[in-house]
Amino acid sequence: MTTLEFAIGAAYLVAAVLFVVGLHLMRAPSTARRGNLISAGGMVVAVLATVVFALLDAGGSVWAWIALLLGLLAGGSFGVVRARTVKMTDIPQLVSLFNAVGGGAAAAVAFADFVLHLTGVTLGLTSLVPIVLDVLIGSVTFSGSLIASGKLQGVIPSRPLSFPGARVINVAAVVVALGAGVLSILSPHNVVLLVVVLIASLVFGVLMVLPIGGADAPVIVSLLNAFTGLAVAMAGFAIDNQAMIIAGALVGAAGTILTLQMAKAMNRSVGSIVLGGFGTGDEKAVAGAPGQDVANIRQVTADDIAIQLAYAQHVMIVPGYGLAAAQAQHEAADLATLLTDHGIDVRYAIHPVAGRMPGHMNVLLAEANVPYAQMLQLDEANAVFDTCDIALVIGANDVCNPDARKPGNPVSGMPILDVDRAKSIVVIKRSMSPGYAGIPNPLFTDAKTGMYFADAKRGLDDIIVAVKEYITA
Ligand code: NDP
Repeated sequence: MTTLEFAIGAAYLVAAVLFVVGLHLMRAPSTARRGNLISAGGMVVAVLATVVFALLDAGGSVWAWIALLLGLLAGGSFGVVRARTVKMTDIPQLVSLFNAVGGGAAAAVAFADFVLHLTGVTLGLTSLVPIVLDVLIGSVTFSGSLIASGKLQGVIPSRPLSFPGARVINVAAVVVALGAGVLSILSPHNVVLLVVVLIASLVFGVLMVLPIGGADAPVIVSLLNAFTGLAVAMAGFAIDNQAMIIAGALVGAAGTILTLQMAKAMNRSVGSIVLGGFGTGDEKAVAGAPGQDVANIRQVTADDIAIQLAYAQHVMIVPGYGLAAAQAQHEAADLATLLTDHGIDVRYAIHPVAGRMPGHMNVLLAEANVPYAQMLQLDEANAVFDTCDIALVIGANDVCNPDARKPGNPVSGMPILDVDRAKSIVVIKRSMSPGYAGIPNPLFTDAKTGMYFADAKRGLDDIIVAVKEYITA
């Protein structure tokens, strides 16, 4: 082993330790930010070590140097600019885009390695198997994540998109990809077969994600994240890069655990989601338009809400995507502080898929310095809803839709926050528009519910003013 190889190996070891420590710290919201920074530090070490190795390996080739530095500059600056400018509500589609880039890059690395060995030394099984698996998983991740990102961005309709025979094509794409993959391993000098693996996998990725909508979207975003990790680990095996193997394995394992937990929390089966159309796809989707019985709506004003709040003992705030879209987390926290200062018990009910990414509400509320002890998870919140005088729903919809308890609609079977069990309910949203799943919500026409039509931020500002006036009057 040369001194350079030893130094690179040592740098990868340091990076791996930083990844593991960072991941460990991400288990709790209070240490997650530090964990993220430490993991990012590990990635900087790994990237720098790889670049130094590649530059020295390229010898005197000026073009290789230019290509490497341009790649580093382009990728690095795109990442920094997008991460700094992205709106909080657009992070899920950015994450999905990063998944696509990661999977695509891993597939490209494996494909290039295969092409490099088309003539000359025949690759052994220990390289060919990871190469084929990498092209397969990386391509599925690339096309699937692009579709998921488009759906989250609204460029592609978020409702389930399917057509007759989609399942048959899905299964056919898998069979073709696997068959061509096995043949590629048996004929390592034939690139056409690997191209067939690539195309069939790209088709499968598109068809896997198109029929998924509404409640199943978070599971598929998380699954594709796990796929990115697996693809990167396979690329690491193909080109013998330890940092890629370790980082990929960590992402793959963490993503798989998250996927299984989310699927369980939403009462979905990952297998049926991947095969397409589970619960939302091949069945007729409920129309995306309101279709809501608007005759029974009871509208309330900021003053009405202030009076109710001032007389309450227990208040449960239920944040959802609308709170994130309006960036109203600080106003929600200010209102909670105002009420707690007057002896009212205020807590937050956090649904695991409220918003547009796993843990979205925890991140927002932590940003507004809401104490973790006030954030109740789904089961904890559901255990106390019937003791709440007011459930204050801020821009949440699907996660508290009682129709999830009934069969035959896109959110059927998804565990919900039992907001309808509170003694009274106030919902802040701008209109009767549906949520992500595109279905009406009977909670809004419940006799106990008062609807306050406003942007979450401005609505909360008005309520805070009214509460202050009422309390000091
Ligand atoms: P929903 O998407 O169900 O509903 C959000 C509501 O917020 C809408 O009805 C909208 O009504 C309202 N809203 C939007 N903007 C504002 C605003 N500025 N001020 C006030 N209200 C606003 O959100 P939930 O959080 O309840 O549910 C999340 C949904 O997203 C679930 O279906 C989940 O499966 C899905 N999903 C979750 C992901 C995750 O990982 N967490 C990923 C992808 C999808 P109006 O326009 O009338 O104001």
